Amino acid sequence: MAASAACPLCGQALAAAATVCGNCGAKLPDPAPVPTPVPPLPTEDALLRGLEDLKEQVVAERVVEELESLEKAADEEVAIVDRTLGELVAAKADAEVLEERLEAEEADLSEFVRRVESSVKRQAHAPTPPPKPSAAGTAMVAAGSLLSATGLFLLPGAILVGAFTFLGGIATVALGALVRFGRRQ
Ligand SMILES: [Zn+2]
Repeated sequence: MAASAACPLCGQALAAAATVCGNCGAKLPDPAPVPTPVPPLPTEDALLRGLEDLKEQVVAERVVEELESLEKAADEEVAIVDRTLGELVAAKADAEVLEERLEAEEADLSEFVRRVESSVKRQAHAPTPPPKPSAAGTAMVAAGSLLSATGLFLLPGAILVGAFTFLGGIATVALGALVRFGRRQ
């Protein structure tokens, strides 16, 4: 509060709300209401300056906030980069393992191909197994032989029947031989 009055008797400085002098004990008159000084109206320039200051303060606060959030974002980015680097390192290790495995598989594959190739070559050079005689052909040959023998036996008595029987037997033997070693698997 504004400076107080002095005691009219002893001149002691008094507190504003004092009713008795603390020094001489004189009763003091009711203190006159101290007029509160009316602050001078700010000039337009002052107003503008204040506004400018306020604006600058707000801008400064915004800048600080912006910087803080940028710093946070940068920290996050650093963390992301760290993580990404870690992942890259892990991925590189994985790639190396995969590469090794692929090389091993490639070696396996070429080994397999080599084996198949040599197997194919061996089979190509191997002599083809002789065809298995067919049972039906063998039976036909046997029956034909019997028939021709019968024809030969009949020939002196009945030339025509004997000849036909003999020829039929020979034909049956020939057909049986064909069937026996024919190209049927
Ligand atoms: Zn006094």
